[in-house]
Amino acid sequence: MSVHHYLMFFLPVFAVMIAVEFWIGRKRGLTLYTKGQSIASVVIAIGQRLISSVPLSLVGVIWFLAYDARLFELSMAQWYYIPLLFIGVEFFYYWFHRLSHEIRWLWATHSVHHSIEEMNFLAAYRFGWTNRISMGGLVYAPLCLIGFQPAHIVIMLAVNLMYQSWLHTNLIGKLPFIEGILNTPSAHRVHHAKNADYLDRNHGGVLMIFDRMFGTYVEERETEPVEYGLIKPSGSANPFRIAFHEWGNIINDVKKYPLRHWPMLLFGPPGWAPNGESATSAELRAQYRREQGVATHSREANAAICPRRA
Ligand SMILES: [Zn+2]
Ligand SMILES: [Zn+2]
Repeated sequence: MSVHHYLMFFLPVFAVMIAVEFWIGRKRGLTLYTKGQSIASVVIAIGQRLISSVPLSLVGVIWFLAYDARLFELSMAQWYYIPLLFIGVEFFYYWFHRLSHEIRWLWATHSVHHSIEEMNFLAAYRFGWTNRISMGGLVYAPLCLIGFQPAHIVIMLAVNLMYQSWLHTNLIGKLPFIEGILNTPSAHRVHHAKNADYLDRNHGGVLMIFDRMFGTYVEERETEPVEYGLIKPSGSANPFRIAFHEWGNIINDVKKYPLRHWPMLLFGPPGWAPNGESATSAELRAQYRREQGVATHSREANAAICPRRA
């Protein structure tokens, strides 16, 4: 069963969360949901669910082959199995998510989740349709090779994604004690931002620990309000256009440039162009920090730009 199958069990809770958020928004006079984008999110979620129910996954086959060649005999009966599985899934989720931002082939699918320009609980379920083409799930294969059962990895990933549902909201501010340790609405707002300094930050699922270890953690700052969406938005509320927007961009670039540039156009960072006519996230961030006059390392930059930590 796929991750998205398990997410269906969460649907009643999720529906209540959306209703409560919508109601609070109306009471406060905030437009948290617009009609076009909400319909697009629902259609994309339904499409994704239908596609993921087709039992045809090369990644799944590779997971099972890796599990057949497993290095250790692990079992649920071992007390450390579930804690290790949690940390393992979180670690590989971090890399799956980070690579989904840094490799255009994976970004083509993941960018659908980032296409929202309004943050609300419904946006949490806006997943791309083309995972089976991007095959980002390969990142988790080492977990199978270690000896974790593929079915258990899928369940832990579903739990991880369920946790992330509550992160998609503007209604919850910074939280005491857990910012920088757990993923929070504030940390995930930064993740969804297109502001240069926030791009490709805070990739963790439940934890922010790996972002801190690998230098991708950035705190939300009052001086830098989040702007949601893509650097090059599709400008459409049509779910099909949203789902295939980046694939269309890739096809256009491949037609435009000679063969020798195709590896970078397909597997290089999003925004890369042979003649530098567009910029990658790293280039945009470096430019921003040059303008701000701060170091490019995120921890130093945080301290330098965040008034509360300066
Ligand atoms: Zn992302
Ligand atoms: Zn998200």
